[in-house]
Amino acid sequence: MIAYTTSAETVYTVARQLNTSLDLDEVLGKVLSLTVDATGASRGSLFLLDEEGRVLRQILARPDQSPEVSERNVNTVMEVGLAGWVYRHQYGALAADTTIDERWVRLPDDDEITGSALVVPLLYQERINGLLALHHTQVRYFDESHLALAAGIAGQAAIALENARLFTEVKEERESLFKLINGMPIPVLVVDRADQVVLANQSARQRLPLKQVDVSLDAVTGGELLKEALEELRQRVDTRIEVKWPDGRTYNVSTSDVPKVGAVVAMDDITHLKELDAMKSQFVETVSHDLKNPLGVMLGFAQLLESEKNLSESGQASLQGIKRSGQHMQNLITDLLDLARIEAGIAGTLAPHDLVRVVLETLPDFALKIEEKNLHLTTDLPFERVKVLANKVRLSQIVSNYVGNAVKYSFAGGEIRVKLVRKDGSVVFSVTDAGPGIAPARQAQLFQKFYRVPEVGAATGEQGTGLGLSIVKAIVEGYGGRVWVESEVGQGSTFGCVLPIYPKK
Ligand code: ADP
Repeated sequence: MIAYTTSAETVYTVARQLNTSLDLDEVLGKVLSLTVDATGASRGSLFLLDEEGRVLRQILARPDQSPEVSERNVNTVMEVGLAGWVYRHQYGALAADTTIDERWVRLPDDDEITGSALVVPLLYQERINGLLALHHTQVRYFDESHLALAAGIAGQAAIALENARLFTEVKEERESLFKLINGMPIPVLVVDRADQVVLANQSARQRLPLKQVDVSLDAVTGGELLKEALEELRQRVDTRIEVKWPDGRTYNVSTSDVPKVGAVVAMDDITHLKELDAMKSQFVETVSHDLKNPLGVMLGFAQLLESEKNLSESGQASLQGIKRSGQHMQNLITDLLDLARIEAGIAGTLAPHDLVRVVLETLPDFALKIEEKNLHLTTDLPFERVKVLANKVRLSQIVSNYVGNAVKYSFAGGEIRVKLVRKDGSVVFSVTDAGPGIAPARQAQLFQKFYRVPEVGAATGEQGTGLGLSIVKAIVEGYGGRVWVESEVGQGSTFGCVLPIYPKK
């Protein structure tokens, strides 16, 4: 009989030992050898079961058996033997004398006689995830105290096993995630809160290039640019930023926060898109230039014709049609050339300009249209100057494009609010209208060239070139600012931009 204190101590030792490792094989090996030692058994076996009670893995204290034999034996004892009985009844059993216990099956290739045996379940939250079996050659070697001790050990082992299983699951998930990130064709980095690179996939290591992780971003060529981009992205609503890398390539850098870790940074190489864009812009600029002069001549002749006295009524109508279309083409060409110039960085001479004043000087351009449509325009402007380092014409283009659109797309009698506020080191300019509004799916494309929202066109009957917002975006971003839109169908829209105030504090 094993003394109570000895049993308690053994269970405690087992528990302590088990908690030192999360490695499944190590845990199982320890359970078995500790139990065999503590009970003085001549041999022991431990098997892990799946949800259906099938043996997933077994650790036998008799490694001399071939895998086929041991598999056959395990299946037999699970079907008709003591192990199966324990599995079905969910509690431990003792076969003190195997010669008379009918739950005991003697296996044909068993050369060592088992006199007594016991089997206990590894029970975790009402699920048996394993069985522990002990054998002894002597009949009546095991008694109830051994059974209680084995049950105590099995209880601890079941917890340790569950921990090990959870750990393996997490480890495997981590590994497959890492494989996935590593195999991605675009450079992906994980940085911690102190901008230290903690993970870099293969593409990142090759392209940046990065020899090792656990380095600060400062130590990476171009890392400074990445740090700036991250800093800016942290303050922004949108999650992408274009970064020109020292090797001449352009990356679209996007980031997402990982709680307690830092951030994942993905760098999409958009160099070829930028090159295509530059080629396209060059082409458009050349064609626009070539169209500009003949178009001017055509419009000039149309104007001359207008003063002809003996032009019929239908002739007059056709002439008006020619003039309207010619004017539309001219607007398009002017916008295209403007955009090409802005994108090429020829922003004109820069000087500090008061944006409040620019707004006040630009608004009267729309007075007639506002009156015609019976719109109510209100302003919310600061009483002090808010200076921005920019070209004045470009600044007034921002204002007139936003206000112009609000006037153009508002329904008659609608409200328009023009607002300018200081926020930290920036100025926020916004124009709100009560027009048709824009569906979220369309909003992402609004600032793209030639994009026009079909529903807005249908609701208002207004026409345009689809270039105004691209012009605003190019100007604002050229000055280190950003644009945004907030809109709801049926409610109206707010178009806004943020520009850095001059001088910087
Ligand atoms: P344009 O007005 O010449 O078509 P823009 O680039 O200025 O070109 O605008 C692009 C499109 O965005 C417009 O065609 C219109 O569909 C939509 N849009 C712009 N401003 C507004 C607004 N205030 N309300 C509703 N839709 C707008």
